[in-house]
Amino acid sequence: MKRTFHILFITIPLLLLITLFPVLSASDTSQTNGTQNGTNTSSSAEKVAFIIPHPDDETIGAGGTIGKLMANGTKIHFELMASGDGQGATLLNVTNYYKIDIPANSSSSYTKKLIREDSFKRVMTIYGCDDYNIQGYDDGTLTAAEVFTTMEDLYLNQGCTVFYTVTGDGNSDHMACYQGMLMMEMKYPNLEYREFPIYYYHASRPASLALTNNTTDEDVSQYTSKKLSAFQVYYNINTIHKIFYPYSDGLYSSSPERMYYIN
Ligand SMILES: [Zn+2]
Repeated sequence: MKRTFHILFITIPLLLLITLFPVLSASDTSQTNGTQNGTNTSSSAEKVAFIIPHPDDETIGAGGTIGKLMANGTKIHFELMASGDGQGATLLNVTNYYKIDIPANSSSSYTKKLIREDSFKRVMTIYGCDDYNIQGYDDGTLTAAEVFTTMEDLYLNQGCTVFYTVTGDGNSDHMACYQGMLMMEMKYPNLEYREFPIYYYHASRPASLALTNNTTDEDVSQYTSKKLSAFQVYYNINTIHKIFYPYSDGLYSSSPERMYYIN
């Protein structure tokens, strides 16, 4: 009898623990995502958000992947953060290839902003996407907090649960996108996060800052026609120079795209 008592003494709490474990785990999970507000979407209706530092980063880093997602019917929202108005010795001067209206007395950086944002809209049309927003930050002014706020709003109010951006590579706006995604990942660890090193194909390239060591090289060879057309738009306005981006030899248009991913 005494032995039975001992066994029960050990077994009952053990059984309770086993029984309650899923409940405890579930409540733990819901605490982690305590601010979901019913925006959960099933995987079949998952909505992807691309956080793009400058016009052309999306095409350089992930043009084929965008084509692949669109072909699969995935809903994608694009958020363009900075306008690409930066001027400097190492930056290309754009040309008004599409002859858009530029107000008289516009500064050269404002002119560049208008031309580059117009090129982005043209590229969105090529990809078949009308779900995008242009925030228009001046180059070099984007912060991680602003990226985080944008991403959190896309999650809570627009139901985006998969986030893509480019990796930090020394450019401060790219860095802000990387850091903003890091903040999101810390607050909402159960969402999906992906990053593309946009200069992956350069022989010498800055080391990318990645959230994770998990990588996959996406075979996008079937989805390159729109990517090539998008490259052409940026090439026409001279933000993608053939010396730096030798798309004309097919390298960019058909090579796999490297993606860092978390879960
Ligand atoms: Zn960029």
